[in-house]
Amino acid sequence: MRIAKAHAPAVLLAFAACQAADPPSSAPADDAAPPPGSDFEGPAFEFEEVVPGVYHARGTGSLAVGSHGAVIVNEEDVLLVESHISPAAAQAVVDEIEALTDRPVRYVVNTHYHFDHAHGNRIYPPEVHVIGHEVTREMLENGGSMGRSYQMFVGGLPDQIAALEEQAAAAEDEEERAELEGRLAYMRNYLAGQEAVEPMGPNTTLSERMTLFRGDREIRLLFFGRGHTGGDVVVHLPGERVIVTGDLLVPGLPYMGDGFLDEWDDTLEHLKSLDFDWVLPGHGNPFQDRERITYLQEYMRDLQARAAELHAEGMTYEEAAARIDMTDHADNYPQITGPGVPAVTVQRIFELLDGGS
Ligand SMILES: [Zn+2]
Repeated sequence: MRIAKAHAPAVLLAFAACQAADPPSSAPADDAAPPPGSDFEGPAFEFEEVVPGVYHARGTGSLAVGSHGAVIVNEEDVLLVESHISPAAAQAVVDEIEALTDRPVRYVVNTHYHFDHAHGNRIYPPEVHVIGHEVTREMLENGGSMGRSYQMFVGGLPDQIAALEEQAAAAEDEEERAELEGRLAYMRNYLAGQEAVEPMGPNTTLSERMTLFRGDREIRLLFFGRGHTGGDVVVHLPGERVIVTGDLLVPGLPYMGDGFLDEWDDTLEHLKSLDFDWVLPGHGNPFQDRERITYLQEYMRDLQARAAELHAEGMTYEEAAARIDMTDHADNYPQITGPGVPAVTVQRIFELLDGGS
């Protein structure tokens, strides 16, 4: 495996130069300007080649990109998995893969509707097939991607920035102030990127499966049932024995706030039927250990049983979340160090127990 770090794309340098002129006398056409939130230095992504022509794309930390993605370079074109957290992040991938290939991006897959995977869709022209599950389109088109989970992660940005500004103003140590200023620049750029988000659904949908034949590469898009969301699509490359799983399966514990925990288990069981050596997840590093599917199934079964008991006792989800003890799964999930699970997870389980969808 090899890690390729793309060079800073020239277009960003050009943008910085443009900003210095006020107003720019020869502003580029609107569609040529980088999206808001593109004010960052250095590559936004690193690309790890897991098998020839198939890369795991991960943020370097210079730009908020949300999720990891994948770059699949075919004989004549490129398929990207995920459009990330903003138009700026989506554009950064398009610019930076120029270091890997000169073939055009013709396909983009959204593994699911979550903002950190699909809020960059709008940068793609209509001739690019943006593909996702029917549920993914519905959620992105009808505001579903801006709901509770989005507010939880992104809604607090202005307050976080204000708090950092106060800290930076009060910092007496120069090094500390410089560090805070760096974080502030990152957060302000993140917010600028978010203000430019207008969610857009995939222009091509599937309900169960779709197969793309690109040169000698076969790319299967598969829906096995509800899990992390109502429309998780797994990308399977049977020839290369790779799956790209979004957040349906990650090496650690996935976010469960919009999950269908009672169905996720079955969906993962179907995933076990696929032939693969590598899992490229939406968060965390690529891995090969298939046992991780079972670990997650066992965790979710125990979690639901424990939550259901407290629900039956009439406990609030906040109380239950603080009480539930999953430390017997700490061998598989070392981040578990004591009792307590995320409140939103138990909120979601209670919603499902109360008949929610
Ligand atoms: Zn997600």
